[in-house]
Amino acid sequence: MTQADDTSRPQPKPGVMDIAAYVPGKSAAPAGVAQVYKLSSNENPLGASPAAIEAVREVAGKLEFYPDGSSTKLRQAIAEAHGLNPANIVCSNGSDEIIGLLAQTYLQPGDEGVYTEHGFLVYQNYIKAAGGVPVIAKETDERADVDAILAVVTPKTKVVFLANPNNPTGTYIPFDEVRRLHAALPKNVLLVLDAAYAEYVRRNDYEAGVELVAGAQNVVMTRTFSKIHGLGGARIGWVYAPTHVIEAMERMRGPFNVNAVAIAAGVAAMGDRAHVERTVAHNEKWLGWLSEELSGLGLRVTPSVGNFILIHFPDDAKHSAAAADDYLSARGYILRRVAGYGFPNALRMTVGTEDANRGVVAALTEFLKS
Ligand SMILES: *Cc1c(COP(=O)(O)O)cnc(C)c1O
Repeated sequence: MTQADDTSRPQPKPGVMDIAAYVPGKSAAPAGVAQVYKLSSNENPLGASPAAIEAVREVAGKLEFYPDGSSTKLRQAIAEAHGLNPANIVCSNGSDEIIGLLAQTYLQPGDEGVYTEHGFLVYQNYIKAAGGVPVIAKETDERADVDAILAVVTPKTKVVFLANPNNPTGTYIPFDEVRRLHAALPKNVLLVLDAAYAEYVRRNDYEAGVELVAGAQNVVMTRTFSKIHGLGGARIGWVYAPTHVIEAMERMRGPFNVNAVAIAAGVAAMGDRAHVERTVAHNEKWLGWLSEELSGLGLRVTPSVGNFILIHFPDDAKHSAAAADDYLSARGYILRRVAGYGFPNALRMTVGTEDANRGVVAALTEFLKS
């Protein structure tokens, strides 16, 4: 009997095997490359806050104790830094977990979950895992399009996921557009504002969504410690949500979903404003530099407000994104292929250290001459 027809063994529920397992950014270069620059997962090139590292060292001596299942200190630290009520925050094992919990809580089999054309792929996976139907709204100029989102909303729509700014494009929509989207959505549809990169955005017309959440019953904002705080490895996310959403999520989440190491790191990181400011300043400088240098090489880049940049390659096979990826990897520069996001001929590059940024531009200059 082949594996495939063995129906006597346990069967995943319908839909599970249709999910394309998430493929994270590569982290290794080919053997023999001495210095590796990982620019594939939008991590902080300055690392984590020294205070967070110290806090983790301290908790290492107390690992026999279960964590506080309510992440009380972490919620307080977040609430204080952002001016929120801690009772309206749930913390999680990365914001991915929040996205999954929201899908599991609000989607029944057959319900529709909407996200945008080049939106974060995790949404699709969690919509499917909940038995929901992923519905894709077209983008305009690689940017979320409110009218296109509204056009695909049906009576079956229960959740709309909007990454603002989006990954992998780095584009955002101004907050009056988010308000217009919210105003036109049916009141029973949950609008999820994924603001993973909010701290990086330097635009007067951008807001992460705090006020909208506070003033509505059907909006939540998700955030993460993985990007600006440089704590991707600790897995910490959170959601700010109306009380009735919190009450539902508290029933769905695991009892100790945030571990003690993460709580300690998160509290310390939230308190280190200077590290956040250093990171923002570094990003602002090098995002601008990279955009100009890469454009100067004749490569189109999508205008980004995040800590990464989407680089589009020419049509000739010799200079395609795949060829560039091989060329860069061989030199230790690991970027992200984004074919799964609808960009077969682009690479996403995280803004790195000065060495990494200069190295990629120098390597691409040679690559394009070859
Ligand atoms: C990186 C990222 C997240 C954060 O994921 P974590 O699970 O918190 O590490 C969420 N949304 C988007 C769009 C991202 O790019």
